[in-house]
Amino acid sequence: MNSPAHTAIVESPRTIAKVTHVTQPFLPPLADFLPFLETIWENRWLTNCGPFHEELEARLEAYLDVPHVSLVANGTIALWLALQALRVGGEVITTPFTFVATAHALRLVGATPVFVDVDPVTGNLDPAAIEAAITARTTAILPVHCFGQPCDTAAIESIATVHNLTVLYDAAHAFGVRLGNESVLRRGDMSVLSFHATKVFNTIEGGAVISLDRKAKEHVDRLRNFGFYGDTTLASPSINGKMNEVQAAFGLLQLRYVDQAIAMRAAIAARYRAALDHVPGISPFPVEPSWTMNHSYFPVAVTRPYPVDRDTLWRRLQSGGILARRYFHPLVSDMPGYRDLPSAHEPLPNARHIARHVLCLPLHPGVTAEEQERTLEIIGHV
Ligand SMILES: *Cc1c(COP(=O)(O)O)cnc(C)c1O
Repeated sequence: MNSPAHTAIVESPRTIAKVTHVTQPFLPPLADFLPFLETIWENRWLTNCGPFHEELEARLEAYLDVPHVSLVANGTIALWLALQALRVGGEVITTPFTFVATAHALRLVGATPVFVDVDPVTGNLDPAAIEAAITARTTAILPVHCFGQPCDTAAIESIATVHNLTVLYDAAHAFGVRLGNESVLRRGDMSVLSFHATKVFNTIEGGAVISLDRKAKEHVDRLRNFGFYGDTTLASPSINGKMNEVQAAFGLLQLRYVDQAIAMRAAIAARYRAALDHVPGISPFPVEPSWTMNHSYFPVAVTRPYPVDRDTLWRRLQSGGILARRYFHPLVSDMPGYRDLPSAHEPLPNARHIARHVLCLPLHPGVTAEEQERTLEIIGHV
């Protein structure tokens, strides 16, 4: 461990070899960030809801067109806080086609995930499958707007009303996504966002809970601060889930560029869509006219008559320096800690089919035209 090579890596991190990643964080000009840091140094206010934190909450409420934003340390904590605030326990119906954090949050509050099948096209929860899985122990539904595609919120919410269930949306992929004239983040009882470095809008690590009324926001705000209200009064024991001032300042700066970053993503997505139209068996996920997307991902289904299977294409792209990703494979219901649940033994045919055929192509503002053409060339010449 004390070899010179090891020391060199630690003390002077090298530029990473040039490969094309599925995503890469957007970074504003460093010079733009320095005035924010100077202010933080002057104020000596580093965390506990300082001025940048307050400003970012207000600006995100305006940008996202939602009533209340509570900034938190990351998206997983946001899920945990929202589940606690909504007092969710027992069985919660959710999707196996997601990132593990969705199910982890349920485990962390002592709820039991009940995985049900998804729509074969979008990979979002299938309302009919939700309804079929409801038992006397079901308290809530935790859908994910997978790849930023809005769930069938009308159907989900009518099921929830009939069966008196809570709906919490994992909107980690859905920053700024709109359904018709409305933010998708206004659906259900609450939604959560992730501001992780790999997401469309990032604060390095970070996240938010979207609440629809002030009381709910204040509850979340207490829960993210050990359960305190006031200086010494404790409502109930809770976690430290706060976002700090440096990250909030970083978020304010990112927000200046986010429309530009999404426009760059949209242009790359449009080029993929046009070029892949001519490749039989490579099918980009369709986008409905009523959806305003954020282009966080570019998922395609790799099926016959494409000459090779998804994993072979994935490896060929990798050999060409293109690091496409198999989101979300394997299904969460096939992972340790989940695969022994009764619902994990259900057939889940659509979820299994999508997980076996989906591939997310590189999509971020830093993808060059050359990298994109190389990606398309490899896909076109298998
Ligand atoms: C990224 C992500 C999360 C977790 O967010 P973190 O900020 O990384 O904790 C949760 N759910 C989904 C669907 C995600 O993609």
